[in-house]
Amino acid sequence: MKFLRTLTILAFAVSVSTGVVLAEEKKSEAPKYSPGSCCDKAAKDGKTCEHPCCVAAAKDSKVCKKCNKPGKKCE
Ligand SMILES: [Zn+2]
Ligand SMILES: [Zn+2]
Repeated sequence: MKFLRTLTILAFAVSVSTGVVLAEEKKSEAPKYSPGSCCDKAAKDGKTCEHPCCVAAAKDSKVCKKCNKPGKKCE
């Protein structure tokens, strides 16, 4: 039964390393602002957008969809 035990250890090691990779991917995921949006401009200045809708979205670790619509530019 040595083979089965090795297999179990291998499966465990794979699941652990996969979990680490997933965690790292999640960590590196930065908020995606639409180019030229109020949030994008604020981020480039090293600030966070002060629009109430954007602040509310940021609290939930999200990006304001109202101001960051894909392909739409905020004036
Ligand atoms: Zn904004
Ligand atoms: Zn907004």
